[in-house]
Amino acid sequence: MDLKLTSRAEDFIDDKYFHELLQNTKEDLPKIREILAKSKTKQALTLEETATLLAINSPEAKQELFETAKELKRSIYGKRIVLFAPLYIGNYCINNCQYCGFRSSLRKAVRRTLSDQDIVAEVTQLEKEGHKRLILVYGEHPRYTPEFIADSVRTCYNVKTGNGEIRRININAAPLDIEGFRTVKEAGIGTFQVFQETYHKETYAKYHPGPGIKSDYMWRLNAMDRAFEAGMDDVGIGALFGLYDWRFEVLGLVKHSIYLQDKYGVGPHTISFPRIKPAYDMKLDLPYEVSDEDFKQLVATLRIAVPYTGLIMTARETSEVRDAVIEYGVSQIDAGTRLEIGGYHEGKKEVQELNREQFQIGDSRELDSVIQWLLNRGFIPSFCTSCYRLGRTGEHFMEYAIPGFIGRFCTPNAMLTLAEYLEDYSSAETKEEGYKLIEEELLLIKDSKKKEDLATKLLMIKNGKRDMLY
Ligand code: SAM
Ligand code: SF4
Repeated sequence: MDLKLTSRAEDFIDDKYFHELLQNTKEDLPKIREILAKSKTKQALTLEETATLLAINSPEAKQELFETAKELKRSIYGKRIVLFAPLYIGNYCINNCQYCGFRSSLRKAVRRTLSDQDIVAEVTQLEKEGHKRLILVYGEHPRYTPEFIADSVRTCYNVKTGNGEIRRININAAPLDIEGFRTVKEAGIGTFQVFQETYHKETYAKYHPGPGIKSDYMWRLNAMDRAFEAGMDDVGIGALFGLYDWRFEVLGLVKHSIYLQDKYGVGPHTISFPRIKPAYDMKLDLPYEVSDEDFKQLVATLRIAVPYTGLIMTARETSEVRDAVIEYGVSQIDAGTRLEIGGYHEGKKEVQELNREQFQIGDSRELDSVIQWLLNRGFIPSFCTSCYRLGRTGEHFMEYAIPGFIGRFCTPNAMLTLAEYLEDYSSAETKEEGYKLIEEELLLIKDSKKKEDLATKLLMIKNGKRDMLY
């Protein structure tokens, strides 16, 4: 690996300025209302405006923050929630992140890398459950080269089971060098995610003591620059909440987004905000653990600060927390999640064995139950992969901002992919509820031509046709 940073690499995180902003900004209701009003025009916020929202403390201001986030989510993303599943490919790791069940110092952790045959068996099972979108996850190890990652992506795409196929694969792996990003991009991936974990340098050093390259803050902070220089335009950032002050991390994520947008003309496609969960032999004192209430506030603040960036809430959270937070800005969730390597085809264990898995999950419901829950809440579960497959990524993805984009593309695509799921995989109960929602949504379409076209496509799905895209 070439450990060079990009030629114009910058440390764009000014810790001192972040602290000053957080210390000196007090709750100011008129200013907050001004910013919330601005956000309704779907403009991204500045760092200073974000800090003003982060100073919110009173129940009254919080309520207004939540209401605005909810409204923005509905107006930008509509009712759909995109579903995916994580697929862990291997847990060998040379790094020593103190919070992770894969860290190198855990000599007794059970290590495994899926063979090609295992990958086929895992993907077959995921397809049989109805999944169309995966995120492949890897530890950081010399065996997980860019070529290895690219090969595993191709193996997954080649698995077809009945009407099942994987239509989009995202990656969560160690940051690569520019050449490595090129190799992985060529395999046809969607988003490449790298989480900074914490933007606060001192805390970063504390939790990533080495050995391993992950101890180098700048190598990681510069990862997305290398991805862009390799020609990727679809990247995901994130912070692991609980390592440091959550408000500081939100500033870090917003600054990272502004930086990428300014430098490359495209912000991150997604932001993830995992909270630390128990892991094998994890004995950390975590003074910055984020409460459920603060978690909701951080999601709402992100929604408002970066309106066009997808927000991912994972099954680390319990079903109760997911239920409470989903409407304040989340656009994607995983479902039917299993973290054990090989766990989809080898069967679900009653209790997670943490010496084989990265961390403890909070929501272990099967995909069908998650879909039922979403339907009951009035959301449209979506397996749509249309934008990425029709080249609406990166800069073009900002077309998303065009009025009517959701009505023209996202909602109909969500309905089509939901109908495919209902025909091929769902329980009878989910099928009934799903079609009820689809009928209701059809009635809401005012343009009679569009309505007719969609109704025709839905009928074609009932008759066996698959994979129609708007
Ligand atoms: N190994 C690669 C890396 O570190 O960049 C790939 C990602 S790692 C397998 C996925 C993410 O899981 C990490 O970036 C970290 O944020 C998160 N993670 C690790 N330990 C966790 C824990 N105990 N609870 C919640 N999330 C955790
Ligand atoms: Fe390895 Fe990633 Fe876990 Fe760190 S977070 S120990 S790099 S798998």
